[in-house]
Amino acid sequence: MIEITGLRKSFGDNIVLKDISMRISKGSVVALLGPSGSGKSTLLRCVNLLTIPDLGSVRVGTHQMTYSGAATRLPGDRALARFRANTGMVFQHFNLFAHMTVLQNVMEGPVTVLRTSKAVAREQAQALLAKVGLSGKANQHPSQLSGGQKQRVAIARALAMQPQVMLFDEVTSALDPELVGEVLGVIRDLAKDGMTMILVTHEMAFAREVADQVVFMREGMVLESGPAKDIIDNPQHSATQQFFARYH
Ligand code: ADP
Ligand code: MG
Repeated sequence: MIEITGLRKSFGDNIVLKDISMRISKGSVVALLGPSGSGKSTLLRCVNLLTIPDLGSVRVGTHQMTYSGAATRLPGDRALARFRANTGMVFQHFNLFAHMTVLQNVMEGPVTVLRTSKAVAREQAQALLAKVGLSGKANQHPSQLSGGQKQRVAIARALAMQPQVMLFDEVTSALDPELVGEVLGVIRDLAKDGMTMILVTHEMAFAREVADQVVFMREGMVLESGPAKDIIDNPQHSATQQFFARYH
């Protein structure tokens, strides 16, 4: 479902991604772990095209993008928007549209990008809000919601674009501890439904439970990767061991 080949990205002199390659099969969940600054967010942003890589290629489903430095030719805005929509991304901060209701937030992408009719978009949005347990909040505004509720709206909004993969970047890091569980519950349900996902998280017990694979990054490289329980319980590299020791 996802194939990343030889991905490189620099910001000025700072080489942030150094030749990253990975394949993620349909329906599998990958936990992307590693110290702060190791390039996890940049990698997710490259998959979602929020950041344009320097070199390499990224394929999501049937959508392929190949980068060749200054010679890279990007498709037009609409093609880019569709590529992006194919990978739903949820961030630490919810980025909801404050002036819209919860229902409008979820309808917006399908109506503007996918050209879905409002009636159909509304029906789909209502079903998604039910799925994340927020049917009763459809007509409220984001400011009226708790952090956990906002994050569940953000997940519903990403799902409304019918993405083939979901990318989660530390989506529970900004939440009060008592609100973390409700958001992880939604992600767990998506995993059970067979959604292909890449998950950056500090919730190690959750990663161990839900992820099939762990990819451990350091300094822009993949240091270690493999089945989640093997890597988390029995890391081979000393840097990986030190990282997990903080969570035990
Ligand atoms: P992580 O998510 O693992 O903490 P990031 O991908 O956010 O790591 O950052 C990796 C490195 O890239 C850091 O050194 C960070 O300062 C740098 N970086 C990320 N985004 C930008 C940017 N837009 N401009 C310049 N440097 C950036
Ligand atoms: Mg990050």
